[in-house]
Amino acid sequence: MTKKITCVFCKQSNYIKKGIRRTQNRGNIQKYKCLACGKYFTNDEGFYRMRNSESKITSGIDLYFSNLSSRKVRNYFRRHLDHNASHVSILEWCRRYVLKVQKYTNKLNPNLNGRFYADEMMVDRGNEKDAFWCSIDWDTRFITGFHYSTHREVSDAIDFIKKATKKKIPQYIQTDAGMFYPQAMRKLYYSNRLHSLRVEHKVINTSKTGKHNVRIETVFMKMRDRVNNFRGFKALWSAPILMAGIVLQHNFIEEHTSLRDYPCDRAGLNLNIGQNRWLDLIRLSAQNS
Ligand SMILES: [Zn+2]
Repeated sequence: MTKKITCVFCKQSNYIKKGIRRTQNRGNIQKYKCLACGKYFTNDEGFYRMRNSESKITSGIDLYFSNLSSRKVRNYFRRHLDHNASHVSILEWCRRYVLKVQKYTNKLNPNLNGRFYADEMMVDRGNEKDAFWCSIDWDTRFITGFHYSTHREVSDAIDFIKKATKKKIPQYIQTDAGMFYPQAMRKLYYSNRLHSLRVEHKVINTSKTGKHNVRIETVFMKMRDRVNNFRGFKALWSAPILMAGIVLQHNFIEEHTSLRDYPCDRAGLNLNIGQNRWLDLIRLSAQNS
């Protein structure tokens, strides 16, 4: 990956190297002097002023979204590293970098085929039952959009489908027999000229035929597993951010087990991400912010 260095203050890249900053946890960091505004800065690769090393932060994020609880990640660090990190810090890293990376990935244009499968899952948040809605493009397995809501009503389904189809109007959307989908589809896609929907709505009656199809179900089962592990989450502001992290983990970080490649690659996004995928995604996001 090529690194473009810019001044953190004025964003110009007219600078000279000027000394080294020694840090306890992130080693020696090159300092620069900006020739445009005269201020000193270090290269902001997304970890500006963080007290832990990039590799520790990104392992924490990766482990957490691989389905380890924040406490288990903390215990793992205690066993293997000198400096501890509390489970609260680990959650803070996750939220902080999910927001940064999502800002960047939202601007990307994945090449989607247009056969969409949508599903909603219940999320236990304290005593509440929330819903996590998720839509997957069949050929790429790329998650095209998701939505987090405290209810499951027509308006929620509309919000969800809007997000799911933001990058592409699909050939069809397949859903279960949820009551809210037909109304939402009608609202969004009914054409007076055609006297029908502009986007086909396929409905799978789960009691008769099972869910979707076996291969797409594997993806939804993985998502459901992750979502179930959010049990006990109390904060409504935090839950959707962590769900967004699960989606990033799926689209950009984890190789699809049977297809042996990444949904982002299948969708033609040539991001040139190396072995530490979270680290490179964060760097890309910092460069393109
Ligand atoms: Zn400057």
